[in-house]
Amino acid sequence: MKKGTYNTIKNAIEMHDNIFIFHHIRPDGDCLGSQFGLGELIKLNYPKKKVFYIGDSKGILSFLDFTHYDESKLTEKDFKNSLGIVVDASSSDRLEKKELILSGKISAMARLDHHPNGADIDYKYNWIDASYAAAAEMVGYLAMKAKWKIDAHAAEYIYTGIYTDSGRFFYSDTSKRTFVVAAHLMKYGLNIHKIHQELSGKTMKEIKFHGEVLSNFESKEKVIWYYVKNDVIEKLNLSYEEANQVNILANIEDNRIWIFFIDQPDGEIRVRLRSNGPKVNLIGREYGGGGHDNASGAMISDPALIPEIVEKAIKLIKDFENENR
Ligand code: AMP
Repeated sequence: MKKGTYNTIKNAIEMHDNIFIFHHIRPDGDCLGSQFGLGELIKLNYPKKKVFYIGDSKGILSFLDFTHYDESKLTEKDFKNSLGIVVDASSSDRLEKKELILSGKISAMARLDHHPNGADIDYKYNWIDASYAAAAEMVGYLAMKAKWKIDAHAAEYIYTGIYTDSGRFFYSDTSKRTFVVAAHLMKYGLNIHKIHQELSGKTMKEIKFHGEVLSNFESKEKVIWYYVKNDVIEKLNLSYEEANQVNILANIEDNRIWIFFIDQPDGEIRVRLRSNGPKVNLIGREYGGGGHDNASGAMISDPALIPEIVEKAIKLIKDFENENR
């Protein structure tokens, strides 16, 4: 899915004075990296514009500063000739602080996204391209093409988004362009080793959790899964970020799909589907979710659906392998 270009977003930014940037719920490195990377670039290249970071990082990736604006401090003049940019997402039910968008106070909305999903928000400006490994890759590409000034701070945010969402340059949507953008960022004093170090560090808690997952996962016909129940979350005192590490189960032997089911504080169960071939978003969408071909998610409310999802994954693998003989 492709719509608009980097110029659509650049022109939209240039036409507005107050820029609000939004990220998705259950934040990750890409939505926060794109949000703060884009915001820092706007401040650097258009110093007269005001940038408001809206959202809540939930304390993830705390080696970076993701301080969001307290929206209760906004005044009417902040909304004058304003642009709201949603990065890495589209529909309102997926957005943190969506009430601000739905209030209608923001003059116009823009979307910069690498998801092929539809949207219920009336975006005036769209740059959507599912061929990018990360929304942050789009931000970096925009900076490169627009010949924007970049500093090490902005580059750090953008690189973190690219590095995390591409599975550390592992997923199949990693392209020549992904590396060209990363190399461009490296011209501006970006210290990739520091970021790699931060992201590869593990706490003792995480190690215990890895042990738990690797000792107790289930598998059937090239599908491998683990249900992170509340008792384990409580026993190991896992944070939101620690409990979500679906890639502990990545690429084990000839398994093609790996899944984490994670108990949520509100009683729902988060489903994180990953694959090295079959299009798992076909399953994600069936359960009201979405995402990419090889990385998809959804929410379910009943653990009884787990065997059904596993059976759908098995069928998907069979179809995929028949088609790719
Ligand atoms: P996650 O496992 O949460 O990292 O999600 C993988 C991909 O699926 C991301 O691109 C998400 O944006 C997308 N995704 C996850 N949950 C949902 C949902 N409930 N609705 C739409 N897209 C989702």
